[in-house]
Amino acid sequence: MIQGVRLILIGRQGAGKGTQCQRLSRHYVVPHISTGDMLRAAVREGTELGNAAKQVIESGRLVGDEIMIELVRHRLSEDDATTRGYILDGFPRTVTQAEALDALTATKPVHAVIDLDVPRELVLARISSRRVCRDCGTNYTASGRERHPWTCDTCGGDVVQRDDDTEESVSRRLDLYETQTAPLLEYYGSRGRLTVVDGSASPDTVFARMTAAIEAAQRAQS
Ligand code: AMP
Repeated sequence: MIQGVRLILIGRQGAGKGTQCQRLSRHYVVPHISTGDMLRAAVREGTELGNAAKQVIESGRLVGDEIMIELVRHRLSEDDATTRGYILDGFPRTVTQAEALDALTATKPVHAVIDLDVPRELVLARISSRRVCRDCGTNYTASGRERHPWTCDTCGGDVVQRDDDTEESVSRRLDLYETQTAPLLEYYGSRGRLTVVDGSASPDTVFARMTAAIEAAQRAQS
């Protein structure tokens, strides 16, 4: 049987987290829990959370810690996450969220905290060509030669550019990333819990680096 994993993935928007999470999720048979995807789904469905989060997301700011912690606490208590594990993508984003997560996972700590490291310039270029299926979340890279409307190979849904992938919003999110996530990297780094993986290579190479890092972390914990 393939062992599950409890993983936190940190990285600039556009570092390739979405792609790697999908692959890791299949490989380890664990849910990919993206708080950004959860919030966007809530916005689409017009739930109370979605209505409260809509403007915050559009402006590129962060949703409040309390709301986010409750959302993740609830998700991690579901069967798939408690039995096999999870890949957290987009959470924690602040030290307050990291502390809350440590408390939530005290009995079953995460195996690895991975910082997928890609330089800012490369990230900006990747994001401007990033497209995503509105229904199943499969990621695509636009070449500019696509037929429109563009449908998803996996589920047939609409492939679109995310509303918050405009250059202005992306720049603001990258600035936010530097200021708000730096303390998070410090939080895990200073505790010897951070593994940096170089993400500026092909998806296959990065995936191999990630699984090697995860398996080393699991061996160290067992
Ligand atoms: P992402 O898809 O991870 O880039 O998230 C998109 C947007 O959702 C972010 O710019 C934030 O506004 C919001 N968001 C996602 N995760 C979090 C989080 N852990 N804490 C606060 N806001 C979040």
